[in-house]
Amino acid sequence: MNVILLGPPGAGKGTQASSVSKDLGIPHVSTGDMFRENLKKGTPLGLEAKKYMDAGALVPDQVVVDMVRDRIAKADCAGGFLLDGFPRTIVQAEKLDAMLASKQQKIDMVLNLACSPKTILARLTGRRVCRACGAIYHVRNMPPKKEGVCDACGGEVYQRNDDKEETIMNRLDVYNRQTADLIAYYQQRDLLKNVNADAPREQTEAEMLAALRA
Ligand code: AMP
Repeated sequence: MNVILLGPPGAGKGTQASSVSKDLGIPHVSTGDMFRENLKKGTPLGLEAKKYMDAGALVPDQVVVDMVRDRIAKADCAGGFLLDGFPRTIVQAEKLDAMLASKQQKIDMVLNLACSPKTILARLTGRRVCRACGAIYHVRNMPPKKEGVCDACGGEVYQRNDDKEETIMNRLDVYNRQTADLIAYYQQRDLLKNVNADAPREQTEAEMLAALRA
């Protein structure tokens, strides 16, 4: 099953994708995580992406599309994948459709994590991430057992540069201008399912799994 998770930054895509992908037994493909991983390794792709990420802007379409094309061509994606953070523009969505069509594949479902501005802001300003394994925490709702230390791997838990307040506003603006149009794009193709992402994490996850298993 090929699934896309849509939703504004802070809607909980990363947190939900990590558990839902385990439940479905398909890989979680997060373009943001891939860029952060590249940056950690100091690759040219990571250094190029950093310029955009630090400003809360989008990395150019072609760079992201090429990266995703390589990723979903890997063997572990043969039985399906869960995309998180991609596509983020209509151009990316069209290119994704074309790349799947060339392999006689398609997107099966798009889950839209609908979320109020109040929740988004609270989630983004409180979000903390493990530098080593990418596990996601929240200072109030889901803190690690020991402050600054990842429960899963013992790595350093930090605040992403782009989760600082000055960048958050730009990311939300970018979402409204460039990504929100994807809701209509997938609605027109009868693929969109809205999920209440203001609800507690477990409830949103249950709603997602029910939609995917239906
Ligand atoms: P995320 O972890 O999904 O919030 O992504 C973090 C940052 O990575 C974004 O603010 C963008 O700068 C970049 N990024 C991730 N996915 C994409 C994409 N599909 N298109 C363009 N830029 C992206």
